[in-house]
Amino acid sequence: MVDTRTVQERTEELATLARQVNACTKCRLAETRTNVVFGAGNPDADVIFVGEGPGQQEDEQGLPFVGRSGRLLEQLLSEIGLTREDVFIANVVKCRPPKNRDPRPDEIDACKGYLRAQLELIQPKVAVTLGNFASKLLLRTDTGITKLRGNAYEWWGRLLVPTYHPAAALRGSARVLEEMRADFLTIQAIIDGKLTRRPPEPAAEPEESEPDTEQLDLFN
Ligand code: URA
Ligand code: SF4
Repeated sequence: MVDTRTVQERTEELATLARQVNACTKCRLAETRTNVVFGAGNPDADVIFVGEGPGQQEDEQGLPFVGRSGRLLEQLLSEIGLTREDVFIANVVKCRPPKNRDPRPDEIDACKGYLRAQLELIQPKVAVTLGNFASKLLLRTDTGITKLRGNAYEWWGRLLVPTYHPAAALRGSARVLEEMRADFLTIQAIIDGKLTRRPPEPAAEPEESEPDTEQLDLFN
């Protein structure tokens, strides 16, 4: 269905959603968080980045990707001519899991409507999943990020580019960073309208690679 809302209307709805999420107590992560990290950036962005969940510094500041990972993300953005104000940065879950453990299926389930609403309001051309966790979850696959990356996948009427988590580049080899740079060039090509479709389906081996359908079924 064609969305007839103006950018201003979508911006206002996103602000309303942020107020709602900031008061959310739908899962146990509400008990241990300091701040909800709704996400931040341009409400009309062409690209939305999706991380796993807030870390300690994000939890303290209420903003996504403000630690070392965030600085690397900003550098990679600058290399394709963007700042964090141009894009939208979000996470699968909006509250920090204690000790940075992976979000649990019921927490993802409780929170997924917010990410979905963010996508519907922002209407980005491309979603970029940062790291194994978000990439496998959104592409509904058990295939790891090393194999998934390097492609753009059709996803909910737009393209999805999976790439490494910046933290992996910070602790990993130069190769990880170079591959992230290549993925950012793909993002740039999509934003510039030079890449609109890529044939390969996500989840190359669907059958054996769905260990937990409840968790992976993000948007249903
Ligand atoms: N790692 C994430 O996955 N998300 C953040 O917001 C920060 C670090
Ligand atoms: Fe609500 Fe999501 Fe935070 Fe859980 S993680 S309390 S569902 S905002």
